[in-house]
Amino acid sequence: RQAKESQKPAKRQKPMEMAGYVGFANLPNQVYRKAVKRGFEFTLMVVGASGLGKSTLVNSLFLADIYNAEQYPGPSLRAKKTVAVEETKVVLKENGVNLTLTVVDTPGFGDAIDNSNCWAPILEYVESKYEEYLTAESRVQRSTISDGRVHCCLYFIAPSGHGLQPLDIACMQSLCDKLNLVPVLAKSDTMTPDEVYLFKKQLLNEFAKHNIKLYDFPATLEDAAEECKTSQHLRSRVPFAVVGANTIVEIEGRKVRGRHYPWGVVDVENLAHCDFVALRNMVIRTHLQDLKDVTNNVHYENYRCRKLSALGLAEGQARSPPSNKNPLAQMEEEKYEHEQRVKQMEAEMEHVFEMKVKEKVQKLKDSELEMTRRHEERKQALDLQFIELDEKRREFEREKKEWEDLNHVTLEQLKRPSLSADSS
Ligand code: GDP
Repeated sequence: RQAKESQKPAKRQKPMEMAGYVGFANLPNQVYRKAVKRGFEFTLMVVGASGLGKSTLVNSLFLADIYNAEQYPGPSLRAKKTVAVEETKVVLKENGVNLTLTVVDTPGFGDAIDNSNCWAPILEYVESKYEEYLTAESRVQRSTISDGRVHCCLYFIAPSGHGLQPLDIACMQSLCDKLNLVPVLAKSDTMTPDEVYLFKKQLLNEFAKHNIKLYDFPATLEDAAEECKTSQHLRSRVPFAVVGANTIVEIEGRKVRGRHYPWGVVDVENLAHCDFVALRNMVIRTHLQDLKDVTNNVHYENYRCRKLSALGLAEGQARSPPSNKNPLAQMEEEKYEHEQRVKQMEAEMEHVFEMKVKEKVQKLKDSELEMTRRHEERKQALDLQFIELDEKRREFEREKKEWEDLNHVTLEQLKRPSLSADSS
């Protein structure tokens, strides 16, 4: 009963108004001060073929020369053979708030003849950042973890008017469940408003058809009341048709970032010209924290889950599942198993011993046969030699006899003169 009672949800307490000022109303200010002191980190990745205006747009987004001539030598001078992942870190300050912005560029993407799997280095980079974060989280000292995870990826689509290229589809499909993917229609000033409208429609159809999940800008608190309408209006502009410009032009006495053409000026910050402001407002002003939250709560969690379940599986395979048997019965079983193993080992060793003895006996028999054969050969050779020598001896006897007969000399006669010589 006690347990049941403790499980009961606590009754909602009615907020009690304080008689005087205690001070906890200052809590949000404490959080604010702490957050401002610590500063904010944000990582933005730009993916797209060279020359689609990625660096120009990043500079326009943050109204700063994040990519300047020294750091960023321009598309023609950058390595093109392979896809590289380049990080540029800058600290931006606005109204006393510090933002450490990391822009990740992917020079060389889609530039090769064979672009198969050219998004692999990008995926590797994204996962390596999750891995770094996971390692930092598992440390004892984890109060100040630097967050290098990619919070938003702007995917640049070429203003071809012909929908997504196969490379775009494959790359976006592999990226969309790893990070917050925001598609942008690059260099939209090269298309008429009608073309942009039709192209956007086509792109949205293709995203749905190819199951490409985009970052869904949710309604935020700032959207409340009258702002809700504008926000809804901005959200409906996805994919954002953008124009980037590093040049300042003057329109009606106003200095704006824009592109000057013989037939007029494109004001980058004019919603009638392009969706640049919608993109900047949604990504930086209203949804930067949500992008970070979704990265942490969805994409990083998915990665963590995959990683930990893979670890668990590996451990599970290495270790047999724990049994819930009686320990004594288990010991008996283990003893029996051990005896069986010993018996099997003995049998195996006996078998090996028998085999070795058989081999040795066979070797001895072979060497005996070999020696008998060699002995026979030698005996035959000696017999032959004996016959030959006997033949030679008889020949010699015969020749001697013939010589004696011819010279009438006997052996006695041959011996006599020597005897007479001795006596004299
Ligand atoms: P990246 O290689 O994708 O980083 O492209 P860059 O930012 O270096 O831009 C390549 C060229 O395109 C430069 O000459 C830019 O001035 C030009 N460019 C950038 N953005 C736009 C745009 O929105 N419209 C047009 N027409 N040109 C642009």
